[in-house]
Amino acid sequence: MLTGEKEIELALTRALPCERVKLFEPMAKHTTLRVGGPARFFVQPTTMEQLKSALDIAREYELPVLIIGNGSNLLVKDGGYRGMVLSTLSLNRAVWNEDTVRVEAGLRLSTLAREAAIRSLSGLEFAAGIPGTVGGAVYMNAGAYGGEMSQVVKRVWILDQAGTERELSFEECGFSYRTSNIAKEKMLLVAAQFQLTAGAAPQIQEEMNRLMGLRKAKQPLDFPSAGSFFKRPPGDYAGRLIQAAGLLGTAEGGAEVSTLHANFLVNRGGATAQDFLKLAQYVVETVERKFGTRLQMEVQVVGED
Ligand SMILES: Cc1cc2nc3c(=O)[nH]c(=O)nc-3n(C[C@H](O)[C@H](O)[C@H](O)COP(=O)(O)OP(=O)(O)OC[C@H]3O[C@@H](n4cnc5c(N)ncnc54)[C@H](O)[C@@H]3O)c2cc1C
Repeated sequence: MLTGEKEIELALTRALPCERVKLFEPMAKHTTLRVGGPARFFVQPTTMEQLKSALDIAREYELPVLIIGNGSNLLVKDGGYRGMVLSTLSLNRAVWNEDTVRVEAGLRLSTLAREAAIRSLSGLEFAAGIPGTVGGAVYMNAGAYGGEMSQVVKRVWILDQAGTERELSFEECGFSYRTSNIAKEKMLLVAAQFQLTAGAAPQIQEEMNRLMGLRKAKQPLDFPSAGSFFKRPPGDYAGRLIQAAGLLGTAEGGAEVSTLHANFLVNRGGATAQDFLKLAQYVVETVERKFGTRLQMEVQVVGED
């Protein structure tokens, strides 16, 4: 290992408990696609102070930083990430105040939606089956079945590039279809406040169960995936186009276009990131040749070849 790297390792293990710092951590363990090479440094802080210290160290040593939540919308390339991957999963506290809740970025949406239902608060039913964290979901303006994060976010707290914490109003979040200003300006979201509405716990739970039922029937949940691989093109559906192009079941190595849901590319076992990238390229080119629509990836591709 190079001297600089040893120094970084020492600095990180002084700032965070040793078990929170890993070297050459396989990213396949931290993405729902189950692919991705090693992260040079992988840290999972449990407090804001640890998070800020890790970022200070990255800034001092000019290490690029990749923030991850549950890795459910991420394709990390096989060469891994030559910087610091910072997982928010252990920053997951929620403070409830009547019909609002302030949540740290790493809380899973399913946990938040379940807790809201117990408290008879409506608004997050659509989110119960999205396997991401609050940070990843707000960043992407995740949505399903007519709902999206922009409908329930009231304000957020971010760290800007200089490491300064700032509050952003709803308007400043700049939400649009599967993106936000947090994504466009590469901010780190540390917490979000949600505005929910009073409802009845049994109905909220029933609606969550109904939507989970729809997912189970229509999505290949038995195989690793990153959910919808491509964004919805204007006026159409990526899945419809992929299926109409005759691509169901098309495979590249261990990556396959699901036969259950054409917009899901699944890992049938032993897939590499390269398999997914090649398959995605083939899908994009075939759909464009047949229908003139160029699909855009919803999944975020990061890392080195
Ligand atoms: C089976 C399945 C079903 C899915 N269904 C849906 C669905 O119905 N609707 C939908 O919209 N998505 C869906 N997804 C995709 C995914 O779950 C969502 O996009 C989710 O919001 C991603 O959250 P995450 O925590 O996993 O983010 P990650 O995958 O970890 O990260 C995604 C992006 O967000 C960034 N990011 C993560 N946390 C932060 C943070 N705190 N601050 C700044 N940037 C951050 C990352 O750098 C990355 O660019 C599905 C995925 C799967 C596997």
